[in-house]
Amino acid sequence: MQPFFAQRFEKVEPSFIREILKVAANPEIISFAGGLPNPHLFPVKAIEQACQDVLREQGAAALQYATTEGFAPLRQYIADRYLSRHGMEVNPDNILITSGSQQALDLLGKVLVNEGQDLIIEEPGYLGAIQAFSVYQPNFKPITLGEEGLDLAALDALLEQGTSARLLYGVPNFQNPSGVSYSRANREALAERLVRHDLLMVEDDPYGELRFEREHLPPIAKLAPHNTVLLGSFSKTVVPAFRLGWMVVPDWLRKKVTIAKQATDLHSNAFSQQVLHRFLCDNSLDAHLEKIKEVYGRQRAAMEAALTRHCPPGVSYTRPEGGMFLWLTLPSSVSAMALFDEAIKEKVAFVPGAPFYVRPEIQNTLRLSFSCVDEATTEEGIQRLCRALARML
Ligand code: PMP
Repeated sequence: MQPFFAQRFEKVEPSFIREILKVAANPEIISFAGGLPNPHLFPVKAIEQACQDVLREQGAAALQYATTEGFAPLRQYIADRYLSRHGMEVNPDNILITSGSQQALDLLGKVLVNEGQDLIIEEPGYLGAIQAFSVYQPNFKPITLGEEGLDLAALDALLEQGTSARLLYGVPNFQNPSGVSYSRANREALAERLVRHDLLMVEDDPYGELRFEREHLPPIAKLAPHNTVLLGSFSKTVVPAFRLGWMVVPDWLRKKVTIAKQATDLHSNAFSQQVLHRFLCDNSLDAHLEKIKEVYGRQRAAMEAALTRHCPPGVSYTRPEGGMFLWLTLPSSVSAMALFDEAIKEKVAFVPGAPFYVRPEIQNTLRLSFSCVDEATTEEGIQRLCRALARML
């Protein structure tokens, strides 16, 4: 069947995580693998109420085709929230509602990436972004993500040596997979480089609202607004099933991404946009986020405490101040893929780090998700994981 497939799809791989999740679905397995928000925190009753209210008040109008840019009151809500949280002025006209932030990645790839063109991406990097951009066949240029953020010396070296890259993709808050956040200094220095080298950053921020420690840091889009597309999502703050996210685009990009969105799906689900907006008007998002942060914060602390108690020497891990993920670095002799097989024997699962790298030689890292595992189960799961690890050392 080879002649039927378009060339651009030849190198697009299936998501490795989906394969792992099939193994981890066995109920006997304690899974730190899934990157899912905790379903116990979904506001089911309030959404039921919002659905009814929208249908009763809007009737058939709630079920009609709608504008490509998205439901205007929802765009206004998002703009107001940037102002109240970050003192950041965003024109609602520059906010485009997307079908999850995942769609924003695809639309940006469609509009901005040429085949063979360099694309700068943090490493380890979000697998869904690697997958979405891969369709447009870029030449990925990885820049290491460290405890403080992007390795700017490595970025400078790349820019100096010459690159065709115009796009730089990163997740500055509680990154997936590492849990790392860019420091304030790193954001400022990166913003300066974006402007100086006329680069466009895709600032992917689905986790920024989930900060359970210390103060919020400014989006890079606030520091370099003409050189940033800021992506947001309601998947981790309300529910993922609505498939609602957004992008804040600079003026010069607005028309083209709107056309791309139109060509792709006309508009995102208009009913869920109205229900979501109704939910946000009738309930306090901040109060809802407090509940999520309280649970995730406690579960993160339980995971860290269990790792401190049970991890053999030579293992290090990140200490995220928000989000859903923690990142382990094993002694360099240990392959996380091999550990995965041992861990499954102990009935515990995680995601090996290798697929998050463009460079295949890094094998000794792994991702643990703390969003869905309560404290007692986390203690048990980390004990099992460390038992499996001890056997390999
Ligand atoms: N970006 C990052 C960094 C993510 O972790 C995710 C979800 N796993 C997404 C984008 C996509 O989220 P959604 O499409 O649900 O908004």
